[in-house]
Amino acid sequence: MPVAELRLNSPLQYVKGVGPKRAEALELLGMREVRDILMYFPRQYLDRTNIVPIDALKVGESATIIGEVKAHGVLYGKGQRYEVILQDESGAVSLMWFAGVKFWKRLFEKGQIFAATGTVTWFQGYQMVHPELERLEDNTDKMIHAGRIIPVYPQTSELNSVGLNSRGMRRITTFIFDNLTEKLTDHLPAKEIKQLKLPQLHDAISKIHYPENRDEVETSRRRLAYDELLGLQFLVFRSKIKKETTVKKHSYGEPGYKLTEFKKQLPFEFTSGQKKVTREIFADLQSKHPMNRLLQGDVGCGKTVVAVAAALYVAENDLQVGFMAPTEILAEQHFKNWRDPLEKVGVSSALLTSSLKPAEKKEIAEVCAAGEIDILFGTHALIYDYVSFAKLGLVIIDEQHRFGVEQRSKLYAKGDNPDLLVMTATPIPRTLALTLYGDLDISTIDTLPPGRKPVRTTWRTHSVRDKVFDFIKQDVKKGGQAYIIYPLIEKSEQSQLENVEDAYKELSSGVFADLRVGMVHGRTKAKPRDKTLDAFYKGELDVLMATTVIEVGIDNPNATVMLIEHGERFGLAQLHQLRGRIGRGGKQATLVTLAHEPISDIGKQRLEYFVSTTDGFEIAEADLELRGPGEIFGLRQSGLPELRAANLSSDRDLMESARTLLEKLFAELDTLDSDYRNLYNYLCEYASRRSVTVGGG
Ligand code: ADP
Ligand code: MG
Repeated sequence: MPVAELRLNSPLQYVKGVGPKRAEALELLGMREVRDILMYFPRQYLDRTNIVPIDALKVGESATIIGEVKAHGVLYGKGQRYEVILQDESGAVSLMWFAGVKFWKRLFEKGQIFAATGTVTWFQGYQMVHPELERLEDNTDKMIHAGRIIPVYPQTSELNSVGLNSRGMRRITTFIFDNLTEKLTDHLPAKEIKQLKLPQLHDAISKIHYPENRDEVETSRRRLAYDELLGLQFLVFRSKIKKETTVKKHSYGEPGYKLTEFKKQLPFEFTSGQKKVTREIFADLQSKHPMNRLLQGDVGCGKTVVAVAAALYVAENDLQVGFMAPTEILAEQHFKNWRDPLEKVGVSSALLTSSLKPAEKKEIAEVCAAGEIDILFGTHALIYDYVSFAKLGLVIIDEQHRFGVEQRSKLYAKGDNPDLLVMTATPIPRTLALTLYGDLDISTIDTLPPGRKPVRTTWRTHSVRDKVFDFIKQDVKKGGQAYIIYPLIEKSEQSQLENVEDAYKELSSGVFADLRVGMVHGRTKAKPRDKTLDAFYKGELDVLMATTVIEVGIDNPNATVMLIEHGERFGLAQLHQLRGRIGRGGKQATLVTLAHEPISDIGKQRLEYFVSTTDGFEIAEADLELRGPGEIFGLRQSGLPELRAANLSSDRDLMESARTLLEKLFAELDTLDSDYRNLYNYLCEYASRRSVTVGGG
């Protein structure tokens, strides 16, 4: 039954070219009405200017090429691979897949024309590993040669299985734009649109699908990005207002003798930064509204002891604390470090992780539910249903960007509006912090404990490996300890990267035969892992070979050397976190990252940047530029609405404008004229469709 008139709320099922099966696949992606598919933006575009002749490809850069399938087939080696040789007038390139051989075998035929987009690598010739593919047919081809810009839509296996590849999607969107009898109404007041120099909503939507040129893509994208950022920040604003008007049931008296006694036990004085944030946190705890605070500060600045002081204060007031860390190693370390000093002042603590025996877990859960544990340290295990608190006053989340919003709120929900302290070593640039964590107050530790020397950092190619081993041996002779970090646990069919298991076999019986060498990785069982780490802390091991499981939480001040294999494979923030494991004592520490050829330009840039600074804030800014914020702040799992058009790093101007507009809206809520009232209502409706909590709680 075709619809007579195509409107924004027409069901997609009845649009020409859709039908029930495809409608089902679209619905899986949240698209039911015409309006929804309009919001399904192209992932990229094919246009003549973007297409590179094969002989002009550059290793490390991303490019689109168009060519004919000359040959294709399975390659056998360490594992199965599928290779396609794509050729244009200037040369040939090898497209490579390490999985899905059966699928690819069926897909390709000699003579077919494909556009392939991917990062160019070099392995006996130009290569693209797992490129994005777009099969071109005659008509598409004509579009390209006519210089048109064609949208390429994001692909999912569901869409593909019903024939809705990019080409299928194009047929539908073309049909919609040709037949739609209605325009999207703009919720932004005309005055704002003009001031921002942005296009109307309907124009932006139609041009994001079918632009005339690159500029139109960008202006349209900016308009849509603005809308997204406005929506996102509206959620944050509302959440903040809600939290600010909540009154908590519990309260705390003045800090008492336990805190003083605890501080006396510490082998150090608080730094000025630690004192400042402690004051901020204590003031929050004493307020009648629940605390919602993010504590940030570079690796090693001493956030833990501040959090423990807050926990102790809460315990002193007869309330409980849940202290959650992202890895067992870190949770255990917190517990082991603080159990005794806490006990000395009469505060009890316990540790709950998944690797405990069921009976042990049960016992801890019971004691905690009875209110007999003051501070419960743990991993994700804390959020399970069987864990409850008699009177949870404070939730502390360490390395908070490692948790999803759901996990954070699950722990939070075990109390009645408890106070919340989340911590991170990844500092967040201000505008971003306001956008993502606008409902949190932020405390920053801007000092490092005295006596820390910046870690001497270099990067080299793999060819100097033996020299670095010599260096490690010499350092060990002088009483130091070393880390060696690998990207993989074991040999993998999909990659040529070094792995810790093989390296351990090789080195512990080879070059390090007369040293004491240990190994931990993500699959090491809890018991041997703890034994190894313990031995390393106690100085009974000289070298610890590991994967990035030790990225957070290992605190051995005697470790002075770190070697990172395949430094080119790690993100900047991760490299910086790893670096934070050394240089914790007074001795000069050295870090060498070994990069393996071929090193992409981006990889090189990252390493150059990494060695150029030890300032975590600068690293975070650069990481943001290089990698985008999604990955860094765990945005994917944060529970925030997905951003399809906005880029949190490059659209900061839009973020600021959106924020200014929202501040105005909220300040003048009672006197808004109809345009602005409409916008407000629109945003409220938008928010009501999303029940997420933003930021922390
Ligand atoms: P992070 O902020 O990265 O979580 P930690 O809390 O793990 O840092 O602290 C790093 C190390 O610094 C620990 O060994 C801790 O005991 C030590 N430390 C913390 N505060 C001070 C201080 N004020 N003076 C000296 N050492 C400190
Ligand atoms: Mg920490």
